Formats: sequence, structure tokens, C-alpha cells
Amino acid sequence: MKTHTLPRKSLAFLPTPVMKLERLSQHLNGPAIFMKRDDQTGLGFGGNKTRKLEFLLGDAIARGCDTIITGGAEQSNHCRQSAAAAAMAGLECHLVLGGEAPKNPDGNYLLDTLLGATVHWTGAFRKGEMIPEISEELTRQGKKVYMIPYGGSSHIGAAGYVVAMQELEQQLESLDLNLTAMMFATSSGGTQAGMTVAGAMTGFAGDIHGIKIDKEELGEPPYKELLADLSTSTAKLFGLNKSFDRHDFMVNNDYLGDGYGVIGELEREAIQLCARLEGIFLDPVYTGRAFGGLVDLIRQGCYTGSDNVLFWHTGGTPALFHYGKEL
Ligand SMILES: *Cc1c(COP(=O)(O)O)cnc(C)c1O
Repeated sequence: MKTHTLPRKSLAFLPTPVMKLERLSQHLNGPAIFMKRDDQTGLGFGGNKTRKLEFLLGDAIARGCDTIITGGAEQSNHCRQSAAAAAMAGLECHLVLGGEAPKNPDGNYLLDTLLGATVHWTGAFRKGEMIPEISEELTRQGKKVYMIPYGGSSHIGAAGYVVAMQELEQQLESLDLNLTAMMFATSSGGTQAGMTVAGAMTGFAGDIHGIKIDKEELGEPPYKELLADLSTSTAKLFGLNKSFDRHDFMVNNDYLGDGYGVIGELEREAIQLCARLEGIFLDPVYTGRAFGGLVDLIRQGCYTGSDNVLFWHTGGTPALFHYGKEL
């Protein structure tokens, strides 16, 4: 197994469990469905960003930084986990959030405030577009600032999912389990890029099937090209000299619904199925949509009785307490 020498700050409870969803598999009458529980990474209600933050904060600390800055939507899971990681590491945390200060803080944003993060509101910009500008201002104030991009998806952050995929492959080996496919919500790309790099190193044979949860915006590079560039630079951190291209990625754009964070019947049904058959909560924005996609693909017959599929639960559950009325 290729390893790395990157600085790492331990933040998560690892390994996260892999479990079989017996009742759900039976109910859908298709493949055996397994779940990797990265909603249980432990830090501040958990989620996939915690794995990226182990490497991002490791890097920040190694560089002698005393402040981190990152950004996202008001209900960003990444920002909430960043604020929790900063608290644990004793760093100051600045969050650049889209929209305006809500009258009644709830969900992830409520947790950001409890965690002591300083919030900068940026209206229409929900992808951390103003991080560099605000970072410069903080630097002028004498802080040593570490910038974490939207979703934590730098090559350093993506290293967290190389290691995560190595962790899963070890678990699969001890369970003597071969997967036909792995499905998960994909958005800023660090998760899928990391998994793909690890998969290339070990020759993972199953589909790494990302369900895209938000539309590509004008002016952004095509998503598969972003994934390819990110994977190529992430691989180098592990001593793998491979140039990835868009054919190395499976990205499903069929479940975008009415856009980012708009809850429809697909998400509602997925959340209820998982809760009522397995006692597991999905979130409304990411995992609800991606799991809804998996259910639909099973109903279409894309994955059937002899297949083993794994849903990688990436967290996000505090957002349930923001979107509650729509569920
Ligand atoms: C950020 C996030 C994702 C997507 O991960 P990326 O690395 O940004 O593609 C999926 N699920 C949840 C709950 C998230 O918060």
C-alpha cells in the first residue's frame, strides 16, 4: 500500500463502521446494500469533511498558522466541521457564508455559533468566493491565516479520502466482500478524487459512482476535469505519478432535482426509508439525494440480486433541523 508523509491532526474516530442494511435490502428486493458510516466520524456531529480536515489542519499547524478560514452555504456541513476542528486544535476559525445572518439560527449554523466561529456573510456567494479577500484583511490584522477552499477540496484535503478508501478496502477484505459499486454524494470533488486515487493504487474493481447533488455553474471547469486535476495532484502526495482524465470518473447528473438544497419527493422518500427500515438518518441536501438516486437505480434494475453495493454515508444530518418543515 502506498503511504504518505503528510502532517495529520487526529480528529476522527476511525475506522468508521461498515454495516449491512438487511431490512432495506429486503424491501428493495435488489442487491445487498451496505453502508460505510462516515456520518459517525465523531467530531462535532461527524461527516466526510472531518477526514479532509485531519490533513488540512495538519498542514496548517505544520506551517505555524493560528487561524483558518473557509466558506460555504449557510447550512454548510464543511464549515461546521471546520469550526469544530479549529476548536479542538486551538485555532481561530473564520467562516465565509452565503446569504445573510438568519433571525433564528438553526441546524449547522447554530452549531457554528456554539463552536465560536466568526462568520462573514457574503450574500449571493455561497461557495467561499470571498475567502481570499477576507483572508488578506485578517493577515493585515497580524493573523497567520490558512485558507481552506470550498468543501475542503484541495489535494491536501482529498488525501483524507485516499486514506478512507484504504480503510474501507481493508474492511472489505476482512468481510470477504466484493463490491459491484460504491455510491455517494459528490459536490466539491475531494471525496471522489481521493477514492479514485486509492482505487487506482489497489486496482479496485467496482464502480466508484458519484451522484452529483448540485449543477455545474457557468464559468466553472467541467466537473470531471476538476476531478481529474484534483486526483492527479492528490496522487503525487502518495508517490503515484498518474495523470487522470475525465474517463476515470463516473458522475451521475440524473438526480439534480430543482437544484442545490431543494427537497423533493426523491429525498423525502430516501430519508423516510432509511429512518423507518434501519433507524439511520440521512441529510436532506447530500445523502438524501444520493441515496434516492441509489433507490431509483435499483428500481430501474441497474443493480440486481447478485450485486453488492455500498452507500458511503457522508454525514450532514444537522441540516435536518433546518429543513425540518419541508420533510
Ligand atoms: C461536502 C459533502 C459531500 C460532498 O463531498 P465533496 O468532497 O464536496 O464532493 C457529501 N455529503 C455531505 C453530507 C457533505 O457535507
